[in-house]
Amino acid sequence: MADKISMNSDGTLTVPDNPIIPFIEGDGIGIDIWPAARSVLDAAAAKHGKSIEWLEVLAGEKAFNETGEWLPQDTIDKFNEYLIGIKGPLTTPIGGGFRSLNVAIRQIMDLYVCLRPVRWFQGVPSPVKHPELVDMVIFRENTEDIYAGLEVEAGTPEAEKMRGLLLDAFGWELAEDAGIGVKPISKTGSQRLQRAAMNYAVKHGRTRVNWVHKGNIMKFTEGAFNNWGYDLVKEEFSDVAVSWEDSGGDAGDKILVQDTIADIALQQVLTRPAEFQVIATMNLNGDYLSDALAAQVGGIGIAPGANINYVTGHGVFEATHGTAPKYAGQDKVNPSSVLLSGVLMFEHLGWTEAAADITRALEATIGDKVVTYDFARMMDGATEVKSSEFASAIVDRL
Ligand code: NAP
Repeated sequence: MADKISMNSDGTLTVPDNPIIPFIEGDGIGIDIWPAARSVLDAAAAKHGKSIEWLEVLAGEKAFNETGEWLPQDTIDKFNEYLIGIKGPLTTPIGGGFRSLNVAIRQIMDLYVCLRPVRWFQGVPSPVKHPELVDMVIFRENTEDIYAGLEVEAGTPEAEKMRGLLLDAFGWELAEDAGIGVKPISKTGSQRLQRAAMNYAVKHGRTRVNWVHKGNIMKFTEGAFNNWGYDLVKEEFSDVAVSWEDSGGDAGDKILVQDTIADIALQQVLTRPAEFQVIATMNLNGDYLSDALAAQVGGIGIAPGANINYVTGHGVFEATHGTAPKYAGQDKVNPSSVLLSGVLMFEHLGWTEAAADITRALEATIGDKVVTYDFARMMDGATEVKSSEFASAIVDRL
């Protein structure tokens, strides 16, 4: 009988052999990539005596067509109830009352970590000479920063009021035709993200952690993020980690924690990728950084992601690309992003052997040059296959 995943008091998960896992198929290419990815996940699970009871929940266009709502409460309730879920990409509704459905899910469920591992898979075409040196895990803060959506539009009464308030309270004079956004970065929000990054580094034997920030300019938001990160290391991780400043760069057998200004970080992840292992950063930096890094290892068609709250145990795993509407329904695009999000989910559930099998089979498939259009156009002598055929080829190699 299928059962729920539950969280224990020590923060670990109890995962039955046949868990119920809610999924959102996704808009656009979701109808192509989700069934393809699911067939591989099911086959790998079955190989290890496990099976997943998939429970469809609705969001995006499918939800709107069937219920009149873009993000029904029932979907959030099911994700909350079953702890772990997975989703395809969602259209951002124009005039639907949401800035983005993805951002809404993260904020409503307080999924404060956006986890984006970036590594190269053997055989994947890459624009850089040594993609194998890229093996980083990005912890992007998911609930604060300029993404909090605290903005007023230029020329509106709200902007006028805000300008007045800022002038009265602080003497700040802003241009009459300015739109204004608020960038909240809190100690609590920063440290829970940084704690998750440190715990990850400890658990996975990583030896370097970087805070990426623009604190030289935004001192009390991004600069504070950096300072709070170092405070956290001293207060909670001093037995296993030490900062660059306190160690002179020689951390011995401890984790070396340092910080890098965001603009330099974007250069160095390209020129010295081997020096970065675990990166923790705020929402906007994390968005730029993860897509730039994804490009080095084959593009967003193969970049997985997860949104996690390590305190409540909730996690929603997701493809990091959008709905690519021009390809929808053509059975054409690469299902690897949502498939590897599933692999990340298996690892999170402790199904590490099934996860490793999928990774190996994916590498073997790409190694045989059996690939979807996005890789085929960058490879010599490739056999271009459909999304579903690519999935079958992976299953054949499991
Ligand atoms: P997009 O859907 O990510 O597509 C941009 C390009 O990325 C595609 O034209 C394609 O490149 C490539 N691509 C995306 N997915 C691919 C895959 N699975 N396999 C191979 N290539 C892939 O971005 P967009 O067109 O800017 O956004 C479309 C919609 O998606 C918008 O409504 C946006 O708001 C939404 N969106 C959703 C999410 C999410 O749900 N997480 C994230 C971003 C955007 P080529 O043209 O070179 O083939």
